[in-house]
Amino acid sequence: MLYKQREKLEKVSTYQQAKTIEQIKQEYKQEKVLKLAGNENTMGVSPLVKEAIKSAENELFLYPDAKCQLLREALSNLYNVQENQLIFGNGSFELITLIGQTFIEEGDVSLIPSPSFGWYKNVTLTSGGTPLFIPLAHHKVALLDIKEAITPRTKVIWLCNPNNPTGTHFSHEELENFLNNIRKDIVVVLDEAYYEYAAGGDYPNSVDIIQKYSNVIILRTFSKVYGLASLRIGYGIGNQEMISMLDKVRIPVNINKLAQVAAYASLQDEEFKRNCLENNAEGLAFYEQQCREEGWEYIPSKTNFITMNVHYDAKKVVEELLKRGISIRPGADFGMDDWIRITIGREAENQFVVRSLKEIIRKFKHNRSVEDASI
Ligand SMILES: *Cc1c(COP(=O)(O)O)cnc(C)c1O
Repeated sequence: MLYKQREKLEKVSTYQQAKTIEQIKQEYKQEKVLKLAGNENTMGVSPLVKEAIKSAENELFLYPDAKCQLLREALSNLYNVQENQLIFGNGSFELITLIGQTFIEEGDVSLIPSPSFGWYKNVTLTSGGTPLFIPLAHHKVALLDIKEAITPRTKVIWLCNPNNPTGTHFSHEELENFLNNIRKDIVVVLDEAYYEYAAGGDYPNSVDIIQKYSNVIILRTFSKVYGLASLRIGYGIGNQEMISMLDKVRIPVNINKLAQVAAYASLQDEEFKRNCLENNAEGLAFYEQQCREEGWEYIPSKTNFITMNVHYDAKKVVEELLKRGISIRPGADFGMDDWIRITIGREAENQFVVRSLKEIIRKFKHNRSVEDASI
């Protein structure tokens, strides 16, 4: 081959996506597949979103508004921030990429909690930087250890709050303590993909934070509680200067029309959102209760997923669930080999998962005791 990729890319591997429903149907000969591997909202979308998409169908030949003006105004009012403090991305994935392209260069180090969201690493590497992983402490982002790891070369710190894949969060007070004790030329990313599930209590009021600390940016998404994962839209909130820097590398028309109208409509339906949050809280409580009854270890979660350790080979458990048409995330995907991560679904879906898990574990237990007896 005569052409070569940039040297930095040699270390980068392609991001691993969960299997699609179609793939699982074919591979496991299933007619129906319940996908609980990507923290999507199985409640679907608000009816207002469907109407909005229908009414946009005659405008598909037009380029969409590059500024997402209607949505921009709505979020600006909702969070009481200036319109130029907002930036939209093709999912938060794109915003994370923009942050890498804008701030990270050769020789820069980015600090990443581990395990956490996988894209921070890819973006750091493709931008020419070096990722440094800071292990979680008791499944929580270890802010004190991250602070200790800072060197003059530290450029970006990625903080996922609540953290995916553990579901734990850090408080407003912990965050302020951290920010008060680090250099102001380090860009701090607050990835709040699960914000709507976690808000309240001691969870950070991060909009106040970005008004006070110009080196901090918030990332949120319409993919989780609003159910718009397929349309790809997320947004960032930050200081105006930071936002205008990111805007230089953003593709001019990066948010499609359907995503814009759907996101706008989803903000109008408080009732749908409330139902989803209620369903999620009940689902989490159900899983936690079942875990306690069965003696399965779990990490209390502020999100729409629960991460648990059922004390049997997690990979095999995932495989057995697939044979029953249920797709969840094996912890091995993020370095927690013994664990599984399950997206909370609707009541009947959660019951189906727990029933299946119990069956699988019972079978494993039986096999293990048969093996033990034959030794
Ligand atoms: C789901 C998720 C995202 C991706 O969101 P999109 O807006 O769909 O790109 C980003 N960060 C975390 C932590 C997530 O869990």
